[in-house]
Amino acid sequence: MKMIIGGERRDSVSGRSIPVNNPANGDFIDTIPLGTSEDVNIAVESAENALPKWSEKQCRERGKILFHVAEEVRKNHKEIALLLTIEVGKPIRESIDEIRGFANILEYYCSLASSNIGESFSLGPIGDCIVNREPIGVCGAIIPWNVPAILMGWKTAPALLMGNTLVLKPAIAAPLTVLKLYDSFENAGLPHGVLNIVTGNGEEAGRAIVRHPRIRKVTFTGDSQNGRSVRMDAAESMKHITLELGGSDAMVVWKDADINKATDGALRGRFYNCGQACLAVKRLYLHESIKDTFIGELKNKIEKLKIGDGRSVETDMGPLINVSQRSKVEDVIRSTLEKGEGTLITGGKRPEDPVITNGAFLLPTLISDIPDDARPFREEVFGPLLPVATVEDIDTAVKQANNTPFGLGASIWTHDMNVARRFSSDVKTGVIWINKHLTIPPDVPFGGIKESGIGRENGRNSIYEYTETKSIIIGK
Ligand code: NAD
Repeated sequence: MKMIIGGERRDSVSGRSIPVNNPANGDFIDTIPLGTSEDVNIAVESAENALPKWSEKQCRERGKILFHVAEEVRKNHKEIALLLTIEVGKPIRESIDEIRGFANILEYYCSLASSNIGESFSLGPIGDCIVNREPIGVCGAIIPWNVPAILMGWKTAPALLMGNTLVLKPAIAAPLTVLKLYDSFENAGLPHGVLNIVTGNGEEAGRAIVRHPRIRKVTFTGDSQNGRSVRMDAAESMKHITLELGGSDAMVVWKDADINKATDGALRGRFYNCGQACLAVKRLYLHESIKDTFIGELKNKIEKLKIGDGRSVETDMGPLINVSQRSKVEDVIRSTLEKGEGTLITGGKRPEDPVITNGAFLLPTLISDIPDDARPFREEVFGPLLPVATVEDIDTAVKQANNTPFGLGASIWTHDMNVARRFSSDVKTGVIWINKHLTIPPDVPFGGIKESGIGRENGRNSIYEYTETKSIIIGK
């Protein structure tokens, strides 16, 4: 596939390209151009040319186009979902949910298209004030590979609705679904140049977007270390930034929890997308009185998961994105067990099925009795490892949930309102779930604090993140 600038499918001016492979078997799928700063310059020029006409349309008109994009996507969701499964490896059910989720996001923002988001008020003897919300201009959006369609939706929908134009860069491991989704924008009548997609790596194409002096805002989703570099690069031209970064969410299961629901929550919370989700359950804390029952039930459920190629409807968990990502997770498991910092309950190795040996597969892994300072609790582990420890009272539960440099999400599973209230007020994260984890509908603001980022996406507020406020004072 090619990158898309001003509606045109193009190779990189450098002529360089890179292959995209299926993580389930290593098979070649397609190539994409390796974009350079020159490609980014061309994309910015195209976005600038498209800006005046797009930004002067009524918000409702822009919303109508986004609504048609969602319709197009719904029509073709099976075909797009299959491509997502082939490039990222996720089970087809999860891919279908993600593509429908993309359509849901666009439809949600359409519902805001007629909102009046400016204001006006009297200044008494001075006169009157009108507060307008104007588009920021050309924006840059950089996304990772784990949920490319959802993240494309979170960034394109509010930015375009509010009259901005965009240069978007997907990750090199998962650019194809994003390029395919562009067809729906085109079929829905989005003018050329409003959305431009430059493919390439972070060091070259990504940094060129962040450093570009005429891009006025950058929204970045990815690793916290790279987020730090984005923040510094963006400072040079004083850009607006939104950073959605890593997470190490705690899930705390209280003594009165519904064990069946909570084990289902931990199963999906950790092993959805092969454990590669920013808001996955990355640390599990059990009230000590339920430890053995909970671990026994969770182990049974984990061992029933069907691991394999995501194209089969039977598959519950696919491969990791590539073998190098698998090596990182294996390294954490190995070093934890070698140091005697945990008890392996299940998993911890690759599946033995010869049909799937070429893929980046790893069995879902549960390790209990993990001490506070062991790697699975200190680092963001982006793969199917669930580390477990116990807590004896609410003070310890709050302390452990906060015992991380990250602050994306956390959940508590209980029917005791006092426990839930204490946890939700004292745990320092952007999102708290009670008897739930992972689910974020489009109307819920989402984002983190501490090393998990700056700003919020999703929800009504994110439309403000794509506007500049202008106050106009009319004297008497
Ligand atoms: P990554 O940071 O390696 O890459 C993300 C994107 O940024 C890619 O497109 C990459 O090419 C680009 N990039 C990398 N360095 C860059 C730089 N210095 N300047 C500009 N662009 C750069 O992340 P990843 O490995 O693809 O994704 C996994 C990470 O993303 C995890 O930490 C995960 O928690 C996080 N994530 C966060 C959210 C959220 O909403 N908070 C959602 C999904 C994933």
